Amino acid sequence: MNREFDLLIKGGRLIDGTGNPYFKADIGISGGRIGRIAKDLDPAAAERVIRADNLTVTPGFIDTHSHDDVYLLINPRCDEKILQGVTTNVIGNCGISVSPVSKAHSAEMSSFLAVMCGQKVSADELNIQTFGDYLSKLEALRPGMNVLPLVGHSTVRIAAMGAANRAPSGTELKEMKAHVARAMEEGAFGLSTGLIYAPSNYASTEEILELAKVAGRFHGIYTTHMRSEGDAEPAAIAEALRIGREAGLPVHISHHKVLGKENWGKSVDTLKMMAEARDRGVEVTCDQYPYRAGSTFLAAVLPPAVLAGGPAVFTDKLKDKSFRAQVVETIEKDSAPGWENLIKGAGFDGIVISVSRHEAYVGKSVAAIAKMEKKSPYDVIFDLVAEESLGCIIILFMMDEADITRIMRNSWTMIGSDGIPGFGVKKVHPRMSGTFPRILGRYVREQGVLTIEEAIRKMTSLSAQTFGVRGKGILKEGFDADMVIFDPATIQDRATYEEPNKGPVGIRYVLVNGAIAAQDGKVTGATSGKVLRHSM
Ligand SMILES: [Zn+2]
Repeated sequence: MNREFDLLIKGGRLIDGTGNPYFKADIGISGGRIGRIAKDLDPAAAERVIRADNLTVTPGFIDTHSHDDVYLLINPRCDEKILQGVTTNVIGNCGISVSPVSKAHSAEMSSFLAVMCGQKVSADELNIQTFGDYLSKLEALRPGMNVLPLVGHSTVRIAAMGAANRAPSGTELKEMKAHVARAMEEGAFGLSTGLIYAPSNYASTEEILELAKVAGRFHGIYTTHMRSEGDAEPAAIAEALRIGREAGLPVHISHHKVLGKENWGKSVDTLKMMAEARDRGVEVTCDQYPYRAGSTFLAAVLPPAVLAGGPAVFTDKLKDKSFRAQVVETIEKDSAPGWENLIKGAGFDGIVISVSRHEAYVGKSVAAIAKMEKKSPYDVIFDLVAEESLGCIIILFMMDEADITRIMRNSWTMIGSDGIPGFGVKKVHPRMSGTFPRILGRYVREQGVLTIEEAIRKMTSLSAQTFGVRGKGILKEGFDADMVIFDPATIQDRATYEEPNKGPVGIRYVLVNGAIAAQDGKVTGATSGKVLRHSM
């Protein structure tokens, strides 16, 4: 018998993603789309019925900020995200995308990705050159969720000129622009920068402007991990806003936060800067992850001059006692120009080792390790960086809860995990496995920072609208059947800094394009995700 619906969700409270209050209705799904939303749809009209009494039904969550580019090639299901209710994953953030790759600089690209994505991948072996090659590769692997790609500035720069620390020549800039244009033609939704990471941070504002103009021509978005999220944050926001204004495209500030004790409270000013720009017609938005700690390489706590020349050079230099003394002096005096002093911002007890070859160090702060090893905290850092180079990853407690909730309440803030994949084993930041349920458990149910309708809007329709994806983010007839069905009374993250890979509880079903991708905390193995391509 041919029934009208493949799946019918009966009796749930629908929060449609627009911010409107819930209403009770049934949803009939056919061909991967929402066919009908109405009261009392007939169960006999469906192949399968899910009872959702006392449960909340929402659009699937959009993770506006992920670093799953390489992870998706290895685990295309991306279980950590599916289990949180993420049905669309925005990749290519912070200037880092897998492609384009040029033959001339493919080795530099491979080592860049190995560092930034925690896993060795060879573009040559994968036979990836153009932006579209990566998307086709991913499509063939059948991802578990929808993937929305951005093209990364560092990647484009490496393709045109390697990792060189200088301005591009005229020819090189032309080549970078051509790479961005081709990526946009092949489906990128915009251009991202990561202006604290080499080689993205070698770029002038003018260089980024030229490239952003190209993305703007294709109606793309400009997303940015800014040059500073601490002492020099206002200047960094001004730079982002200038790029949006002069290149004529929307600007999205990635993982917005205020770093460092002496800057706490300044989110009042950062949000005001954005609000004023919006009033002047600059479309600026931001996203956020709901944790007091960030995560980066241990080496990033050292002044940039220390890291010059790359790992082979600095690991050697750091063995020298007098060199160490100089570095300590620079850090103590906070005298390196334009540098975010993370030691000053977090303190040694706020820097916690999360990935290291020293098992005994994992989960402990630099201050605690110093006590344990009877050496200075500086020597703990120098020894670890000298020994493990960029392999040692830290969690940094540098944010204030009041800034987090202020940014969260802001109307154009959306939710993004900024998750660093642990490939199922490494102890990474818990945001990889906990972000979305944490918003709904801790910030909605426990603290009442957001209403549930507002929280869902920040995970769905706002993100879809901002990144320019059609047919997603709202429970609406004709829209894709990406959905989360959960219990608002029990939904909760369980990932902690000690046990970051624990999945959440309280989510009954996750649907990706109409197929059940997760049920009761387990992935089903469905691979119904699509690689989304931007169209003008
Ligand atoms: Zn970033």
